[in-house]
Amino acid sequence: MLEEYDRRVIIPGSRSVNATTIPYNLSKYRKLGRYVIAISQALVTMGRLPHTNAADKWVQELYWPLWKALKAFGILQGAGAQINNQTPQGIRIDSFELHPLDGTLQRCQACAYIMNDALFQVCLRCGQRTNAVSTSSLQNFYRRSALYALPNSFFDDPYPLRAIEHSAQIEKHEARDIERWFQDMFHDDQHPNDYRVDVLSVTTTMEMGIDIGSLLSVGLRNVPPNVASYQQRAGRAGRRGSAIATVLTFAQARSHDQYYFNHPPEIVSHPPRVPALYLHNEVIARRHVRSLILQSFFYELFRIQQSSGLFNAWGKIGDITRYQAISKLRRYLAVNREPLLTRCMKVIHPVFTTQLKRWMKELADEVEQVVSRSEEKDSLLEQLIGAGLLPKYAFPVDVVSLSMPPSERSSFKFNGDESSGDDTMARDLKIALAEYAPGAEVIRGSFPHTYVYRSVGVVFTNK
Ligand SMILES: [Zn+2]
Repeated sequence: MLEEYDRRVIIPGSRSVNATTIPYNLSKYRKLGRYVIAISQALVTMGRLPHTNAADKWVQELYWPLWKALKAFGILQGAGAQINNQTPQGIRIDSFELHPLDGTLQRCQACAYIMNDALFQVCLRCGQRTNAVSTSSLQNFYRRSALYALPNSFFDDPYPLRAIEHSAQIEKHEARDIERWFQDMFHDDQHPNDYRVDVLSVTTTMEMGIDIGSLLSVGLRNVPPNVASYQQRAGRAGRRGSAIATVLTFAQARSHDQYYFNHPPEIVSHPPRVPALYLHNEVIARRHVRSLILQSFFYELFRIQQSSGLFNAWGKIGDITRYQAISKLRRYLAVNREPLLTRCMKVIHPVFTTQLKRWMKELADEVEQVVSRSEEKDSLLEQLIGAGLLPKYAFPVDVVSLSMPPSERSSFKFNGDESSGDDTMARDLKIALAEYAPGAEVIRGSFPHTYVYRSVGVVFTNK
Protein backbone atom coordinates (compact mmCIF):
# COMPACT_ATOMS: atom_id res chain seq x y z
CA MET A 1 0.00 0.00 0.00
CA LEU A 2 2.64 2.50 1.01
CA GLU A 3 5.27 3.59 -1.46
CA GLU A 4 8.83 2.64 -0.65
CA TYR A 5 9.78 6.24 0.08
CA ASP A 6 6.92 6.54 2.57
CA ARG A 7 8.09 3.58 4.63
CA ARG A 8 10.23 4.99 7.38
CA VAL A 9 12.07 2.57 9.62
CA ILE A 10 13.90 3.17 12.87
CA ILE A 11 17.25 1.65 13.96
CA PRO A 12 19.37 2.46 17.01
CA GLY A 13 22.19 4.90 16.18
CA SER A 14 23.31 8.49 16.39
CA ARG A 15 22.47 9.46 12.80
CA SER A 16 20.41 8.37 9.79
CA VAL A 17 21.89 5.62 7.61
CA ASN A 18 19.87 6.67 4.57
CA ALA A 19 16.84 8.75 3.65
CA THR A 20 14.26 6.24 4.90
CA THR A 21 15.78 5.46 8.29
CA ILE A 22 15.20 7.35 11.51
CA PRO A 23 17.92 6.96 14.15
CA TYR A 24 16.68 5.75 17.54
CA ASN A 25 18.30 7.90 20.19
CA LEU A 26 17.25 10.11 23.09
CA SER A 27 19.25 13.23 22.24
CA LYS A 28 17.66 16.67 22.25
CA TYR A 29 18.01 16.71 18.45
CA ARG A 30 15.27 14.06 18.03
CA LYS A 31 11.58 14.50 18.74
CA LEU A 32 11.47 11.35 20.87
CA GLY A 33 14.59 12.49 22.78
CA ARG A 34 13.07 15.90 23.51
CA TYR A 35 9.93 14.22 24.83
CA VAL A 36 11.83 11.82 27.09
CA ILE A 37 14.00 14.70 28.40
CA ALA A 38 10.83 16.71 29.14
CA ILE A 39 9.49 13.70 31.10
CA SER A 40 12.73 13.50 33.10
CA GLN A 41 12.43 17.19 33.98
CA ALA A 42 8.84 16.64 35.09
CA LEU A 43 10.13 13.85 37.38
CA VAL A 44 12.57 16.36 38.93
CA THR A 45 9.78 18.89 39.42
CA MET A 46 7.65 16.24 41.13
CA GLY A 47 10.54 15.29 43.41
CA ARG A 48 10.78 11.74 42.05
CA LEU A 49 14.28 12.50 40.79
CA PRO A 50 16.56 14.59 43.05
CA HIS A 51 18.21 16.94 40.53
CA THR A 52 19.06 17.64 36.88
CA ASN A 53 22.13 15.39 36.82
CA ALA A 54 19.97 12.49 38.00
CA ALA A 55 17.52 13.31 35.19
CA ASP A 56 20.30 13.10 32.57
CA LYS A 57 21.39 9.75 34.01
CA TRP A 58 17.77 8.51 33.99
CA VAL A 59 17.45 9.38 30.27
CA GLN A 60 20.73 7.56 29.46
CA GLU A 61 19.66 4.47 31.37
CA LEU A 62 16.27 4.44 29.66
CA TYR A 63 17.82 3.90 26.22
CA TRP A 64 17.75 0.09 25.89
CA PRO A 65 14.84 -0.66 28.23
CA LEU A 66 12.62 1.70 26.20
CA TRP A 67 13.73 0.16 22.91
CA LYS A 68 13.06 -3.36 24.19
CA ALA A 69 9.69 -2.34 25.63
CA LEU A 70 8.54 -0.78 22.35
CA LYS A 71 9.35 -4.06 20.59
CA ALA A 72 7.92 -6.25 23.37
CA PHE A 73 4.55 -4.44 23.26
CA GLY A 74 4.46 -4.93 19.49
CA ILE A 75 4.45 -1.18 18.83
CA LEU A 76 7.68 -1.59 16.84
CA GLN A 77 7.88 -4.60 14.52
CA GLY A 78 10.58 -5.87 12.19
CA ALA A 79 10.46 -4.07 8.84
CA GLY A 80 12.66 -5.34 6.03
CA ALA A 81 16.22 -6.51 5.50
CA GLN A 82 19.01 -5.86 7.97
CA ILE A 83 20.84 -2.55 7.92
CA ASN A 84 24.26 -2.39 9.66
CA ASN A 85 23.63 -5.83 11.16
CA GLN A 86 20.43 -4.62 12.82
CA THR A 87 16.81 -5.41 11.98
CA PRO A 88 15.03 -2.12 11.17
CA GLN A 89 11.78 -1.58 13.06
CA GLY A 90 8.58 0.11 11.97
CA ILE A 91 5.00 0.81 13.04
CA ARG A 92 2.48 -1.15 10.95
CA ILE A 93 -0.07 1.03 9.24
CA ASP A 94 -2.90 -1.28 10.36
CA SER A 95 -2.04 -0.70 13.99
CA PHE A 96 -3.61 2.77 13.71
CA GLU A 97 -7.30 3.26 14.40
CA LEU A 98 -9.44 6.37 14.73
CA HIS A 99 -11.81 6.66 17.69
CA PRO A 100 -14.02 9.53 18.76
CA LEU A 101 -12.79 10.89 22.08
CA ASP A 102 -15.12 11.75 24.92
CA GLY A 103 -14.82 13.16 28.38
CA THR A 104 -11.58 14.89 29.25
CA LEU A 105 -8.60 15.55 27.00
CA GLN A 106 -5.28 17.25 27.51
CA ARG A 107 -4.40 20.51 25.78
CA CYS A 108 -0.93 22.04 25.77
CA GLN A 109 -0.73 25.45 27.43
CA ALA A 110 2.04 26.49 25.06
CA CYS A 111 1.17 25.08 21.63
CA ALA A 112 -2.52 24.12 22.13
CA TYR A 113 -1.89 20.59 20.80
CA ILE A 114 -4.71 18.25 21.80
CA MET A 115 -3.92 14.74 23.04
CA ASN A 116 -5.89 11.87 24.50
CA ASP A 117 -3.63 11.57 27.52
CA ALA A 118 -0.43 13.21 28.67
CA LEU A 119 2.07 11.49 30.96
CA PHE A 120 2.76 13.83 33.89
CA GLN A 121 0.95 16.51 31.85
CA VAL A 122 3.87 16.79 29.43
CA CYS A 123 2.92 17.82 25.87
CA LEU A 124 3.77 15.12 23.34
CA ARG A 125 4.57 17.73 20.79
CA CYS A 126 6.59 20.42 22.56
CA GLY A 127 7.29 19.17 26.13
CA GLN A 128 5.43 22.02 27.85
CA ARG A 129 2.65 21.54 30.41
CA THR A 130 -0.91 20.53 29.47
CA ASN A 131 -4.32 21.24 31.01
CA ALA A 132 -7.38 19.05 31.17
CA VAL A 133 -10.19 20.24 28.90
CA SER A 134 -13.59 18.73 28.18
CA THR A 135 -14.28 17.58 24.63
CA SER A 136 -17.48 19.61 24.55
CA SER A 137 -15.50 22.83 25.02
CA LEU A 138 -13.45 22.19 21.89
CA GLN A 139 -14.48 23.92 18.66
CA ASN A 140 -12.91 21.88 15.94
CA PHE A 141 -14.13 21.70 12.36
CA TYR A 142 -12.62 18.25 11.76
CA ARG A 143 -13.95 16.81 15.01
CA ARG A 144 -17.41 18.16 14.24
CA SER A 145 -17.35 16.76 10.72
CA ALA A 146 -16.21 13.37 12.04
CA LEU A 147 -19.02 13.34 14.62
CA TYR A 148 -21.57 14.02 11.87
CA ALA A 149 -20.29 10.94 10.07
CA LEU A 150 -20.86 8.57 13.01
CA PRO A 151 -23.82 6.16 12.90
CA ASN A 152 -26.96 7.60 14.58
CA SER A 153 -25.58 11.08 14.20
CA PHE A 154 -28.08 13.90 14.59
CA PHE A 155 -27.11 15.02 11.08
CA ASP A 156 -28.00 13.05 7.95
CA ASP A 157 -24.66 13.52 6.29
CA PRO A 158 -21.32 15.01 7.02
CA TYR A 159 -21.21 18.14 4.92
CA PRO A 160 -18.23 19.94 3.52
CA LEU A 161 -17.58 23.64 3.55
CA ARG A 162 -19.69 25.04 0.71
CA ALA A 163 -17.90 27.71 -1.29
CA ILE A 164 -19.77 29.67 -3.98
CA GLU A 165 -18.58 32.11 -6.61
CA HIS A 166 -19.94 35.65 -6.41
CA SER A 167 -18.63 37.67 -9.32
CA ALA A 168 -19.65 39.60 -12.40
CA GLN A 169 -20.15 36.24 -14.14
CA ILE A 170 -23.11 35.52 -11.85
CA GLU A 171 -26.52 36.78 -12.85
CA LYS A 172 -27.95 39.48 -10.63
CA HIS A 173 -30.94 37.56 -9.27
CA GLU A 174 -28.74 34.53 -8.68
CA ALA A 175 -26.21 36.70 -6.84
CA ARG A 176 -28.97 38.06 -4.60
CA ASP A 177 -29.97 34.49 -3.63
CA ILE A 178 -26.38 33.65 -2.81
CA GLU A 179 -26.02 36.78 -0.65
CA ARG A 180 -29.20 35.81 1.22
CA TRP A 181 -28.13 32.19 1.79
CA PHE A 182 -24.72 33.33 2.93
CA GLN A 183 -26.44 35.33 5.67
CA ASP A 184 -28.46 32.25 6.69
CA MET A 185 -31.72 33.60 5.32
CA PHE A 186 -33.78 30.89 3.64
CA HIS A 187 -37.29 30.60 2.26
CA ASP A 188 -39.58 28.15 4.04
CA ASP A 189 -39.02 25.44 1.42
CA GLN A 190 -35.22 25.81 1.53
CA HIS A 191 -33.49 23.59 4.05
CA PRO A 192 -30.34 25.28 5.42
CA ASN A 193 -28.29 22.11 4.83
CA ASP A 194 -29.14 22.23 1.13
CA TYR A 195 -28.86 25.96 0.50
CA ARG A 196 -26.36 27.29 3.03
CA VAL A 197 -23.23 29.03 1.76
CA ASP A 198 -20.18 28.98 4.03
CA VAL A 199 -17.63 30.71 1.85
CA LEU A 200 -18.11 33.37 -0.80
CA SER A 201 -15.44 33.58 -3.45
CA VAL A 202 -15.72 37.15 -4.64
CA THR A 203 -14.12 39.65 -6.98
CA THR A 204 -13.32 43.25 -6.13
CA THR A 205 -16.84 44.25 -7.28
CA MET A 206 -17.79 43.29 -3.71
CA GLU A 207 -16.11 46.44 -2.47
CA MET A 208 -19.14 48.56 -3.21
CA GLY A 209 -22.60 48.38 -1.81
CA ILE A 210 -23.34 44.67 -1.49
CA ASP A 211 -24.60 43.64 1.94
CA ILE A 212 -23.41 40.21 2.99
CA GLY A 213 -23.39 40.97 6.69
CA SER A 214 -20.38 40.71 8.91
CA LEU A 215 -17.72 38.13 8.20
CA LEU A 216 -15.74 35.88 10.51
CA SER A 217 -12.83 35.87 8.16
CA VAL A 218 -11.56 37.51 4.99
CA GLY A 219 -8.97 35.86 2.77
CA LEU A 220 -7.26 37.98 0.15
CA ARG A 221 -5.60 36.08 -2.69
CA ASN A 222 -3.21 38.93 -3.36
CA VAL A 223 -2.14 42.17 -1.73
CA PRO A 224 -4.64 44.91 -2.71
CA PRO A 225 -3.30 47.84 -4.75
CA ASN A 226 -3.37 50.41 -1.96
CA VAL A 227 -4.21 51.07 1.69
CA ALA A 228 -7.74 52.25 0.93
CA SER A 229 -8.66 49.09 -0.96
CA TYR A 230 -6.97 46.90 1.66
CA GLN A 231 -8.99 48.56 4.41
CA GLN A 232 -12.19 48.32 2.39
CA ARG A 233 -11.76 44.57 1.82
CA ALA A 234 -10.32 43.65 5.22
CA GLY A 235 -12.88 45.87 6.94
CA ARG A 236 -15.64 43.44 5.95
CA ALA A 237 -14.42 41.13 8.70
CA GLY A 238 -15.50 41.51 12.27
CA ARG A 239 -18.18 44.14 12.06
CA ARG A 240 -21.12 44.35 14.44
CA GLY A 241 -19.31 42.93 17.43
CA SER A 242 -18.34 39.44 16.36
CA ALA A 243 -15.77 38.16 18.85
CA ILE A 244 -12.89 37.14 16.62
CA ALA A 245 -12.21 38.07 13.04
CA THR A 246 -9.28 37.15 10.88
CA VAL A 247 -7.86 38.68 7.74
CA LEU A 248 -5.39 36.57 5.85
CA THR A 249 -3.54 38.03 2.88
CA PHE A 250 -1.65 35.82 0.46
CA ALA A 251 1.36 37.66 -0.93
CA GLN A 252 2.11 36.40 -4.42
CA ALA A 253 5.54 36.12 -5.97
CA ARG A 254 5.51 39.56 -7.55
CA SER A 255 7.17 42.80 -6.54
CA HIS A 256 4.06 44.63 -5.24
CA ASP A 257 2.97 41.76 -2.99
CA GLN A 258 6.49 40.97 -1.81
CA TYR A 259 7.16 44.59 -0.91
CA TYR A 260 4.16 44.72 1.43
CA PHE A 261 4.94 41.23 2.76
CA ASN A 262 8.15 42.79 4.06
CA HIS A 263 6.46 46.03 5.16
CA PRO A 264 2.98 45.00 6.38
CA PRO A 265 2.13 48.20 8.31
CA GLU A 266 2.33 50.22 5.08
CA ILE A 267 -0.66 48.40 3.55
CA VAL A 268 -2.57 47.80 6.81
CA SER A 269 -2.40 50.96 8.87
CA HIS A 270 -0.81 53.80 6.93
CA PRO A 271 -3.23 56.67 6.25
CA PRO A 272 -4.98 56.20 2.90
CA ARG A 273 -3.99 58.50 0.05
CA VAL A 274 -6.13 61.63 -0.04
CA PRO A 275 -8.21 61.61 -3.24
CA ALA A 276 -6.97 64.27 -5.65
CA LEU A 277 -8.74 66.07 -8.46
CA TYR A 278 -6.62 66.85 -11.49
CA LEU A 279 -7.92 70.21 -12.63
CA HIS A 280 -5.79 70.26 -15.76
CA ASN A 281 -7.73 67.38 -17.32
CA GLU A 282 -9.11 68.90 -20.53
CA VAL A 283 -11.68 66.17 -21.18
CA ILE A 284 -13.28 66.59 -17.78
CA ALA A 285 -13.14 70.40 -17.83
CA ARG A 286 -14.84 70.46 -21.23
CA ARG A 287 -17.59 68.10 -20.05
CA HIS A 288 -18.38 70.48 -17.21
CA VAL A 289 -18.53 73.43 -19.59
CA ARG A 290 -21.01 71.57 -21.83
CA SER A 291 -23.04 70.60 -18.79
CA LEU A 292 -23.24 74.17 -17.52
CA ILE A 293 -24.23 75.68 -20.87
CA LEU A 294 -26.78 72.99 -21.79
CA GLN A 295 -28.38 73.15 -18.36
CA SER A 296 -28.82 76.94 -18.69
CA PHE A 297 -30.13 76.57 -22.23
CA PHE A 298 -32.75 73.94 -21.40
CA TYR A 299 -33.83 75.89 -18.34
CA GLU A 300 -34.35 78.90 -20.61
CA LEU A 301 -36.11 76.83 -23.30
CA PHE A 302 -38.41 75.26 -20.73
CA ARG A 303 -39.38 78.73 -19.48
CA ILE A 304 -40.25 79.94 -22.97
CA GLN A 305 -42.08 76.80 -24.11
CA GLN A 306 -44.24 76.73 -20.96
CA SER A 307 -44.55 72.97 -21.53
CA SER A 308 -44.31 71.52 -18.08
CA GLY A 309 -42.72 68.07 -17.93
CA LEU A 310 -41.72 68.01 -21.60
CA PHE A 311 -38.13 68.93 -21.02
CA ASN A 312 -37.61 67.09 -17.81
CA ALA A 313 -34.16 65.59 -18.16
CA TRP A 314 -33.90 67.47 -21.48
CA GLY A 315 -36.52 65.33 -23.26
CA LYS A 316 -36.39 62.73 -26.00
CA ILE A 317 -34.46 63.03 -29.24
CA GLY A 318 -37.84 63.35 -31.00
CA ASP A 319 -38.66 66.46 -28.93
CA ILE A 320 -35.31 68.03 -29.85
CA THR A 321 -36.10 67.71 -33.56
CA ARG A 322 -39.74 68.75 -33.15
CA TYR A 323 -38.90 71.96 -31.27
CA GLN A 324 -35.83 72.74 -33.44
CA ALA A 325 -33.82 72.84 -30.25
CA ILE A 326 -30.46 72.73 -32.03
CA SER A 327 -30.98 75.99 -33.93
CA LYS A 328 -32.39 77.50 -30.74
CA LEU A 329 -29.23 76.40 -28.99
CA ARG A 330 -27.10 78.15 -31.63
CA ARG A 331 -29.09 81.36 -31.18
CA TYR A 332 -28.87 81.06 -27.38
CA LEU A 333 -25.07 80.69 -27.58
CA ALA A 334 -24.75 83.74 -29.82
CA VAL A 335 -27.02 85.96 -27.73
CA ASN A 336 -25.64 84.95 -24.33
CA ARG A 337 -22.00 84.58 -25.32
CA GLU A 338 -20.47 86.97 -22.77
CA PRO A 339 -22.41 85.96 -19.62
CA LEU A 340 -21.84 82.26 -20.49
CA LEU A 341 -18.11 82.82 -20.92
CA THR A 342 -17.95 84.55 -17.55
CA ARG A 343 -19.82 81.73 -15.82
CA CYS A 344 -17.76 78.98 -17.50
CA MET A 345 -14.53 80.69 -16.55
CA LYS A 346 -15.53 80.23 -12.90
CA VAL A 347 -15.79 76.43 -13.14
CA ILE A 348 -12.62 75.65 -15.09
CA HIS A 349 -8.91 76.09 -14.55
CA PRO A 350 -7.44 79.32 -16.08
CA VAL A 351 -5.26 77.27 -18.47
CA PHE A 352 -8.39 76.51 -20.53
CA THR A 353 -9.53 80.14 -20.86
CA THR A 354 -8.16 80.49 -24.39
CA GLN A 355 -9.94 77.33 -25.56
CA LEU A 356 -13.28 78.22 -24.04
CA LYS A 357 -14.53 80.14 -27.08
CA ARG A 358 -13.79 77.21 -29.37
CA TRP A 359 -15.53 74.79 -27.02
CA MET A 360 -18.65 76.97 -27.05
CA LYS A 361 -18.52 77.31 -30.82
CA GLU A 362 -18.39 73.54 -31.33
CA LEU A 363 -21.03 72.66 -28.74
CA ALA A 364 -24.11 72.84 -30.97
CA ASP A 365 -22.40 70.68 -33.62
CA GLU A 366 -21.48 68.10 -31.01
CA VAL A 367 -25.06 67.87 -29.78
CA GLU A 368 -26.37 67.76 -33.36
CA GLN A 369 -24.11 64.81 -34.18
CA VAL A 370 -25.41 62.85 -31.20
CA VAL A 371 -29.01 63.69 -32.14
CA SER A 372 -28.51 62.64 -35.76
CA ARG A 373 -27.29 59.16 -34.88
CA SER A 374 -29.85 58.52 -32.11
CA GLU A 375 -33.40 57.26 -32.33
CA GLU A 376 -36.51 59.37 -31.61
CA LYS A 377 -37.36 57.53 -28.40
CA ASP A 378 -33.88 57.92 -26.90
CA SER A 379 -33.34 60.31 -24.01
CA LEU A 380 -31.07 63.19 -25.00
CA LEU A 381 -29.38 63.29 -21.60
CA GLU A 382 -28.55 59.59 -21.71
CA GLN A 383 -27.28 59.83 -25.28
CA LEU A 384 -25.02 62.77 -24.39
CA ILE A 385 -23.66 60.90 -21.36
CA GLY A 386 -23.20 57.76 -23.45
CA ALA A 387 -21.26 59.78 -26.02
CA GLY A 388 -18.92 60.99 -23.28
CA LEU A 389 -19.95 64.63 -23.64
CA LEU A 390 -21.19 65.14 -20.08
CA PRO A 391 -19.71 64.42 -16.66
CA LYS A 392 -20.87 61.22 -15.03
CA TYR A 393 -20.68 60.04 -11.49
CA ALA A 394 -21.54 56.38 -11.88
CA PHE A 395 -19.23 53.72 -10.46
CA PRO A 396 -17.46 51.85 -11.85
CA VAL A 397 -16.62 53.76 -15.00
CA ASP A 398 -14.93 52.15 -17.98
CA VAL A 399 -16.90 48.92 -17.83
CA VAL A 400 -17.50 46.70 -20.83
CA SER A 401 -20.44 44.32 -21.09
CA LEU A 402 -20.71 40.94 -22.74
CA SER A 403 -24.27 40.78 -24.07
CA MET A 404 -26.06 37.57 -24.88
CA PRO A 405 -28.66 37.23 -27.61
CA PRO A 406 -32.24 36.84 -26.25
CA SER A 407 -32.51 33.19 -27.37
CA GLU A 408 -29.46 32.29 -25.34
CA ARG A 409 -30.81 34.11 -22.33
CA SER A 410 -34.07 32.21 -22.22
CA SER A 411 -32.28 28.87 -22.28
CA PHE A 412 -30.09 29.78 -19.32
CA LYS A 413 -31.48 28.25 -16.16
CA PHE A 414 -30.34 28.29 -12.60
CA ASN A 415 -32.00 26.04 -10.02
CA GLY A 416 -34.87 25.65 -12.45
CA ASP A 417 -35.63 29.38 -12.60
CA GLU A 418 -35.86 31.12 -15.90
CA SER A 419 -33.36 33.89 -15.99
CA SER A 420 -34.61 37.44 -16.05
CA GLY A 421 -34.09 39.61 -19.12
CA ASP A 422 -31.46 41.58 -17.23
CA ASP A 423 -28.60 39.38 -18.24
CA THR A 424 -25.25 40.79 -19.19
CA MET A 425 -21.83 40.23 -17.77
CA ALA A 426 -19.61 43.20 -17.15
CA ARG A 427 -15.90 43.58 -16.71
CA ASP A 428 -13.40 46.32 -16.15
CA LEU A 429 -12.16 47.68 -19.48
CA LYS A 430 -8.62 46.43 -18.98
CA ILE A 431 -9.73 42.88 -18.13
CA ALA A 432 -12.45 42.83 -20.78
CA LEU A 433 -9.86 43.56 -23.44
CA ALA A 434 -8.63 39.98 -23.00
CA GLU A 435 -11.60 38.13 -21.49
CA TYR A 436 -14.28 39.40 -23.88
CA ALA A 437 -12.17 39.62 -27.03
CA PRO A 438 -13.81 37.81 -29.98
CA GLY A 439 -12.93 34.13 -29.71
CA ALA A 440 -12.41 34.24 -25.96
CA GLU A 441 -14.47 31.91 -23.78
CA VAL A 442 -16.20 32.81 -20.54
CA ILE A 443 -17.20 30.09 -18.11
CA ARG A 444 -20.27 30.78 -16.09
CA GLY A 445 -22.24 28.99 -13.40
CA SER A 446 -21.20 26.06 -11.28
CA PHE A 447 -21.45 22.34 -11.91
CA PRO A 448 -23.74 20.87 -13.21
CA HIS A 449 -25.14 24.15 -14.60
CA THR A 450 -21.91 25.24 -16.21
CA TYR A 451 -22.03 27.17 -19.46
CA VAL A 452 -19.26 28.25 -21.76
CA TYR A 453 -19.90 31.42 -23.75
CA ARG A 454 -17.73 32.35 -26.70
CA SER A 455 -17.43 36.00 -27.64
CA VAL A 456 -18.16 36.47 -31.35
CA GLY A 457 -17.77 40.16 -31.98
CA VAL A 458 -17.56 43.73 -30.82
CA VAL A 459 -20.47 46.17 -30.88
CA PHE A 460 -19.49 49.82 -31.16
CA THR A 461 -21.65 52.23 -29.16
CA ASN A 462 -21.85 55.97 -29.77
CA LYS A 463 -18.52 56.68 -28.13
ZN1 LIG B 1 2.84 21.65 23.32
